[in-house]
Amino acid sequence: MNELLIVGSVALDSIETPAGRVEAVLGGAATYGAVAASLFCPVHLVGVVGEDFPAQHLEFLGSRGIDLAGLQIIAGGDTFRWKGDYNEDLNQAVTHETHLGVFEHFDPQLPAHYREADFVFLANINPSLQLATLDQVSSPKLVVCDTMNLWINIARAQVFEVFRRVDIAVLNDGEARMLTECESTVSAGHELLQLGPRAVIIKKGEHGALMFSEEGIFSAPSYPLEEVVDPTGAGDSFAGSFIGFLAATGDVSYANLKRAVVYGGSVASVTVQDFSLDSLKTLEEGEVERRFGVVREMATF
Ligand code: AMP
Repeated sequence: MNELLIVGSVALDSIETPAGRVEAVLGGAATYGAVAASLFCPVHLVGVVGEDFPAQHLEFLGSRGIDLAGLQIIAGGDTFRWKGDYNEDLNQAVTHETHLGVFEHFDPQLPAHYREADFVFLANINPSLQLATLDQVSSPKLVVCDTMNLWINIARAQVFEVFRRVDIAVLNDGEARMLTECESTVSAGHELLQLGPRAVIIKKGEHGALMFSEEGIFSAPSYPLEEVVDPTGAGDSFAGSFIGFLAATGDVSYANLKRAVVYGGSVASVTVQDFSLDSLKTLEEGEVERRFGVVREMATF
């Protein structure tokens, strides 16, 4: 089976949502992405944590078969910490604190066996680190990236550079409009496609996702959830399971990209049902397939 390399943040998050609050729980874009992808295929993780990163989190990631050879643990260092909340708009996190810690001097070094990876997910992290990672992979078949408003604000040119080098870019509707300065999501999708990716996927939270490509526009509804406990990690889970499904099947045809979008949404809908990665930890066998079936039924006419 194809192997997937994921680079991105591994974090301790403190989050407040209308459903409650948690302190210093397991989080990070690469963490959500890797655990979601591990439902489908073997994953090699690239990231960095400090000595304060709880051993139980490493054990959990290892228990999912995630290869941690590329996860640096810096003696005496502090793990990246993010503090945020969600007010009325569950689609948009408000960042209160970002403590870079060991991220500040992070220099991704890929172990030799990572460099042959066929599938690569550049999860949310400073775009220069996404590029430094991509430079070390010899000849990937498919590269997917994600980003966030912070990097669009402070490192726009590098975000564009990443978009030029990937096959598929995944971002949410607010980020797409911010990056392109377009008022319409559809114009933003078309404009981002001009940068060179084969497809651009714009997520719209509970309203589903749009995939723009030369083949046309594909629209997938989100799995219909009545209650969201914590939206953190939805985007990373979406992208991780999207590329994980493609890696597992080895099929990057347009028809399979559409299926992957629906798998992405199905796994993301699980993530948001509890804080941190708790609902992914207790996910029952067959549940993702069931949600995939519900969405297919909803969207067929
Ligand atoms: P998402 O909700 O999918 O957009 O991603 C949430 C994750 O992004 C959280 O677990 C955070 O730890 C992580 N995160 C927040 N800010 C940053 C940042 N500046 N760089 C990388 N990861 C971040």
